[in-house]
Amino acid sequence: MSLEQFKNRNVGEQPYVLIESEHRPKSGMGRFQRVVNRTFKKELFTGLYVTMREMINTLFRGEMAAVKYPFEKLPISPRYRAIHDMLRLLESGHYRCIGCGLCEKICISNCIKMDTRYDENQRKEVTEYTINFGRCIFCGYCAEVCPELAIVHGGRYENASEQRASFSLFEDMLTPIDALKQQQEFDGFGAVTPNADNAIKKTPLAY
Ligand code: SF4
Ligand code: SF4
Repeated sequence: MSLEQFKNRNVGEQPYVLIESEHRPKSGMGRFQRVVNRTFKKELFTGLYVTMREMINTLFRGEMAAVKYPFEKLPISPRYRAIHDMLRLLESGHYRCIGCGLCEKICISNCIKMDTRYDENQRKEVTEYTINFGRCIFCGYCAEVCPELAIVHGGRYENASEQRASFSLFEDMLTPIDALKQQQEFDGFGAVTPNADNAIKKTPLAY
């Protein structure tokens, strides 16, 4: 074989050779038997058995392997970073955010915009808070940096919508006041660790 032939990778030009690996039946009956042998293999009945078994389990024994989404949902990992939630204080029902602006500053996508003002008691209140979910990359920095556990990544991962703005306003993310009792303390991304109190170094001075 020449070097040019050796380097020629165009297999389309090469003649194909059909290799007979089994005895070719001569008679019609032999050909029929070969079709039957090739069609009805043991694996076919194994597959049918598995299908029937699962169907009977599902219909008559209530053992369904599939989750009936969206009526049923699997629990998500606490580290999953879904759409943000703004939490309220359980005692007063007031939102936890103190308007410190750390989340806005750390956001690497620059998608948090907020505004604050001082109310009549000289307390800072949040007048505007939006997250542009067209830019958010769900990095979790805002939840990690928040000193009040006010902004967290909640469990809402169904963020398909005609309008991304549907999720982005402070009021949309804030726990509804009538659902305050159902507000879960956040145990996921950015939450305080269970032994956080022990990890704090006590100051030696008596203030
Ligand atoms: S998850 Fe990341 S990108 Fe999204 S708002 Fe928070 S800090 Fe910004
Ligand atoms: S870091 Fe937390 S407390 Fe500070 S502005 Fe953001 S959400 Fe509010």
